[in-house]
Amino acid sequence: MASMAQWVWPAVRALRLWGPGGERAWARRPRIAGRRTPVPFSAGVSSIFGSGGSSEKEKLFLQDIAELIQARACQRVVVMVGAGISTPSGIPDFRSPGTGFYSSFQHADVPYPEAIFELSFFLHNPRPFCTWAKEMYPGNYRPNIIHYFLRLLHDKGLLLRLYTQNIDGLERVSGIPGSKLVEAHGSFASATCTVCRRASPMEDFWAAVMGDRVPSCAVCTGVVKPDVVFFGEALPQRFLLHVVDFPTADLLLILGTSLQVEPFASLSEAVRSSVPRVFMNQEAVGPLSWRPRSRDVLQLGDLVDSVERLVELLGWSEELKDLVQRETGKLSGQDR
Ligand SMILES: [Zn+2]
Repeated sequence: MASMAQWVWPAVRALRLWGPGGERAWARRPRIAGRRTPVPFSAGVSSIFGSGGSSEKEKLFLQDIAELIQARACQRVVVMVGAGISTPSGIPDFRSPGTGFYSSFQHADVPYPEAIFELSFFLHNPRPFCTWAKEMYPGNYRPNIIHYFLRLLHDKGLLLRLYTQNIDGLERVSGIPGSKLVEAHGSFASATCTVCRRASPMEDFWAAVMGDRVPSCAVCTGVVKPDVVFFGEALPQRFLLHVVDFPTADLLLILGTSLQVEPFASLSEAVRSSVPRVFMNQEAVGPLSWRPRSRDVLQLGDLVDSVERLVELLGWSEELKDLVQRETGKLSGQDR
């Protein structure tokens, strides 16, 4: 996995970050919560931090985070998520020993499970990937309460950006707009011909995959691949938004990821040192355990429980319940 950073950074350097047509929201000057005061967190939450710079040494708890959000002392929230937020939807984590996809995937033609996400193997034999993709057909899985909590964060105008490593697209399905998302490992939202690089309609891709055929380009008959980032491919251009998002964030939520994959893992270090980082995961791994900061909040154990606890502390439980009911109703309507 360490090699991932090597193939990402040259691509990053080669891109023009400030190209035309890009989203300009992140070009705004960083805004300090509380506005009138130079200390990062202020009015209304002084009881938590006391006064002056030394207060930043104080240990924070989930309750404090909830109060910061309620007081709108945190309103530029960056969220990073991984496979752990989708396991409650029934999507197996890739890496869990025993139950994870890499442990369970067996296909006669595949030398080792990771091979199905390697470009060279895909070009040699796309069938195993297509078998796997069939499982990911839109509608096979539904967003869960964690996705809807993030949607609520967006509805309340608090979500600066959601960085996801997941390729299941459930963040979109939950109603979070694409402009708020960085799908760092790509998605099934679009597909491209591996030969002529033309975009290919997703309906064609799914029609082929669901019919156990290899999707091919209508123009050159080359194999069509969804824009999921394989090993050996550059991350999507939108990933560059991190350059502006992280330094201007005033809260970082990290949910359901052990931060083992670069460059995603290093992003957790990119927020200012005064910015609280909330880490919710089954177990502590990655930068937050080996390079902890004084304002980190660790909430380990079942992720749904942890998110529900925060939602409760925020006083959003009823609102979230309503949102889930409304959205689930919409999705069921589409199935009919
Ligand atoms: Zn083509």
